Amino acid sequence: MFSTTFLDLPPLKGATGSVTLPGSKSISNRVLLLSALCQGTTVVHDLLDSDDTRVMLNALRQLGCGLDINGTTVTITGLGGQLAHPSPIEFFMGNAGTAMRPLTAALAVLGGDFTLKGVPRMHERPIGDLVDALRLLGCNIDYLGQEGYPPLHIGQPQLQLDAPIQVRGDVSSQFLTALLMALPLAAQERSITIEVVGELISKPYIEITLNLLERYGIAVERQGWQRFVIPAGSRYQSPGTIHVEADASSASYFIALGAIAEGQGIRVNGVGAASIQGDIRFVEAAEKMGAKVTSGPNWLEIRRGAWPLKAIELDCNHIPDAAMTLVVMALYADGPTLLRNIASWRVKETDRIVAMAAECRKLGATVEEGPDWLRVHPLPLGQLNLPAAQGQWQATGIHTYDDHRVAMCFSLAAFNSAEVPTRIEDPKCVAKTFPDYFEVLFSVAHADPAKIPVICVDGPTASGKGTLASRVAAQLGYHYLDSGALYRVTAYAALQAGLSLEARDEPAIAQLARNLPVRFEGEQVLLNHIDVTDAIRSEQGGMNASKVSVLPAVREALVDLQLGFRRLPGLLADGRDMGTVIFPAAPLKVFLTASAAKRAERRHKQLISKGFSANIDSLRADLEARDARDMSRSVAPLQPAQDALQLDNSSLTIEASVEQVLDWWQSRQVFG
Ligand code: C5P
Repeated sequence: MFSTTFLDLPPLKGATGSVTLPGSKSISNRVLLLSALCQGTTVVHDLLDSDDTRVMLNALRQLGCGLDINGTTVTITGLGGQLAHPSPIEFFMGNAGTAMRPLTAALAVLGGDFTLKGVPRMHERPIGDLVDALRLLGCNIDYLGQEGYPPLHIGQPQLQLDAPIQVRGDVSSQFLTALLMALPLAAQERSITIEVVGELISKPYIEITLNLLERYGIAVERQGWQRFVIPAGSRYQSPGTIHVEADASSASYFIALGAIAEGQGIRVNGVGAASIQGDIRFVEAAEKMGAKVTSGPNWLEIRRGAWPLKAIELDCNHIPDAAMTLVVMALYADGPTLLRNIASWRVKETDRIVAMAAECRKLGATVEEGPDWLRVHPLPLGQLNLPAAQGQWQATGIHTYDDHRVAMCFSLAAFNSAEVPTRIEDPKCVAKTFPDYFEVLFSVAHADPAKIPVICVDGPTASGKGTLASRVAAQLGYHYLDSGALYRVTAYAALQAGLSLEARDEPAIAQLARNLPVRFEGEQVLLNHIDVTDAIRSEQGGMNASKVSVLPAVREALVDLQLGFRRLPGLLADGRDMGTVIFPAAPLKVFLTASAAKRAERRHKQLISKGFSANIDSLRADLEARDARDMSRSVAPLQPAQDALQLDNSSLTIEASVEQVLDWWQSRQVFG
């Protein structure tokens, strides 16, 4: 997951490959609650691991459910309709609507002494219509803050179940879902009828609920979309084992990707034509816009068809979440796209109509908005002459409003024809449903390598360049190439193979270097799967690296390996010839220096802390000798690239040096 303050996406060109998506949020949280309410043990496979499911799991644990979590498989021992926990419980629901609403209803029907609260945005998301319905049937619920909104307190109910229970259907379908999941707990002796007031929105989510209720032994009788009858004698029963489908809303970003990007197409695994999720119908909307889609029961393949995409007009009531993705597709269309019947967007993680319109405008697009609609005009498509396009693509920072879908949608703006980068602010907000979204995107999206940013850091030994480079990489979410480690590993592997480090073994060492089975895992360096981190980091390891690094054939052999580190979203390259030979066109090169005295002092401290004995004066003499040798050697001498910025960190903290490099980097960005 990217937990940086922003993530800059370089301009993307194409996409090819297959992705496996995390489990559906809607199914995951329903399955968790149903498994908790029923009798018996349920093994849930492919559960989504995200903020929202963690909220639900925590709540169930607080209620005394048995939970055994093993990766994405969770074994749940149900409460059997009884609460084990008589004492007061306070639940924190974060911003998880799919946990808050159904849990409120279930707890209100079961009764107890419960407080439910969430993040500030959760306290702005309406729940009054659900509470009204629950109060009508005798539940005891109080508002602890503003009337109609969380936080709530729940006490003991006095259930009156004779009259039909009325609930509004036009604010959030989650209210009806919540009642449908809670009321079977009270339907032992009599049937219970729920009546929907107003037009029911987001019907597909109700279908998911009904489908899952059936898996748990509750056969709800549906009369149109207005009346739902839970039969007398209903009783939750565990299905034993249940598989969670991949999230169809998450699939929408990859369906859109396949439609927008040039390439061999995208395959999505885990969800397909047999899905019970309403958002699978996003496929039809994408096809209308020109995508070529083929599918099987649990997979989809998507390719670009019409280009530019075709503008559409669509009532989006049936795909409320996935429809957001159409907004960004509309930027690549041949005319204005109108999305209607999207009022529910206003009460989601943020007001999504406002958010989508505002961010599209920042990208340069013309957008019109109404109470429950959006009209998006396309932006230019490069070579293609597109009379409908208005405005020009702008490089901008996309504000994401703590809304995972805003972040994922706007990542697709990186395919813009102006080839400007796109900054996604607070990228970790995708954790709500898809923690690895950007990693998965980068696994299939391509960029022109020359457009993937590289920052080079070089400097004399013990200047602290490794620390600086790896910290800057962490701040930007970039990859990190420690080229010195490659020379160290090469020397190590050569000695292991019985070679000398002299010129006479140059061809053999180069041969080794060309196929070096090295892997970096965090701080660890693995050679042939064996951890060689400590072995290569010694002073001797550095000397040996120095020796092999003067052999031109060895340097040549490592070029491709080093170039291969230039991957999305960007690279921090640390080492001698990064800015001169390997990445000569890098947009920022830093030459880090510090006085010999200071470097000797730091190295001394480092060695002592590792338990080695060391003498500061002889360390300094060694450093100066190594500087002289490194600067005067004929092959890859230690010299700043001509366009490198010098940073003397003798009297700077590491944080200050990192800040300086980040400032330099920011000042070279194009974001408005
Ligand atoms: O940076 P580090 O101390 O790990 O590098 C070990 C040695 O490898 C350096 O002193 C230098 O002689 C050599 N080296 C190189 N080119 C690089 C990185 C390191 O010649 N790109």
